[in-house]
Amino acid sequence: MAVSYYRILGVAPTAEHAELKKAYRELARRFHPDRNQGHPLAESRFRLISEAWSVLGETDDRRKYDQFGPVGLMRGRARPGVAGSVERLVTNLESFVDSRMKRTPKRGKDRRRQIQISLSQAVYGGEIGIDVVRREKCPDCSGLGCEPGTYYDPCHVCDGHGVVKSGNGLLAVTEECPFCGGLGKLAQSPCQSCGGVGERDVSRHVTLDIPAGVQTGRRLALRGYGEPGQSGGQDGDLFVELTVQPHPHYQRNGDDLTCILPIRLSEAVLGGQAAVPLLDSGAVTIRIPAGSQSGQTLRLRGRGGKRSNGSSGDLFVELRIETPVVDETKIRSVLASLDQLSKYPKRAALQEAIDTAKPDV
Ligand SMILES: [Zn+2]
Ligand SMILES: [Zn+2]
Repeated sequence: MAVSYYRILGVAPTAEHAELKKAYRELARRFHPDRNQGHPLAESRFRLISEAWSVLGETDDRRKYDQFGPVGLMRGRARPGVAGSVERLVTNLESFVDSRMKRTPKRGKDRRRQIQISLSQAVYGGEIGIDVVRREKCPDCSGLGCEPGTYYDPCHVCDGHGVVKSGNGLLAVTEECPFCGGLGKLAQSPCQSCGGVGERDVSRHVTLDIPAGVQTGRRLALRGYGEPGQSGGQDGDLFVELTVQPHPHYQRNGDDLTCILPIRLSEAVLGGQAAVPLLDSGAVTIRIPAGSQSGQTLRLRGRGGKRSNGSSGDLFVELRIETPVVDETKIRSVLASLDQLSKYPKRAALQEAIDTAKPDV
């Protein structure tokens, strides 16, 4: 225990028992973890107060403490020798370095998040709303950490310096005050909504601007929506990585789009008209030429995705003859008649190739 128990309780070493008791009771009430919920030091402060009282409140222990310091309380244990002192020095130095590091402004870490967007949003761009949790200044105390109308008192443990000296002579080091965490001040009445921290996690609905033409893997930055910076450091950023969801009817090829249009056998043979749904909205009617083959594509200029130069890609409509779902027994004779009336030159050419091929010797 580096800091004197008297300092923790804020009384002089000459204080009477009644005065000690009064000081302890007031501090225990003021710094009870229930009243300081959410404060990072709530538990450790209460532990310090309780520990100080457990020693100074007992006449016998107080006498030993006054005489030998913390060492006097190590009943039955060997007094720490040189090894113990070195160990304590290292620990003190570490916590000193640690507290120094805490005070250097540190930028908050970046966060990452993945979101799914539709193909239409990827192609044409647009706005998308996402909920983000961000650590912000507590709105109830304006980031002060004190209940409205109250302010701070200087920390009684470090007299407002934020640091305490521990050890003696060569081993003396200055370390961050364990009671105020280096702040040098204590809220008279901590803000109940943030536990005196002055910051709170706030959920914000943010609109993300998706540029036209983005692909899966594209990262968009939301500045300041990462982890909060420390000791006045900048907040980190939130990087939102986009994943483009596959579309049931559309495929994308650069700035061009391809839509698969299933057509009926009769439409393939005789030609016809069919509606093609557009990716952004609505539909366009196209003419299917007579004698269309499966895999044949029709090109609609300028109906694809937007290009970065402002022009648009093309929309390709790929025709695919859909094999009808039929009652085989009923359709058998109809198909037989159709075969008799039909010519299949490509199939015939293939068969001819087989027929005229010389057999392998
Ligand atoms: Zn302090
Ligand atoms: Zn607050």
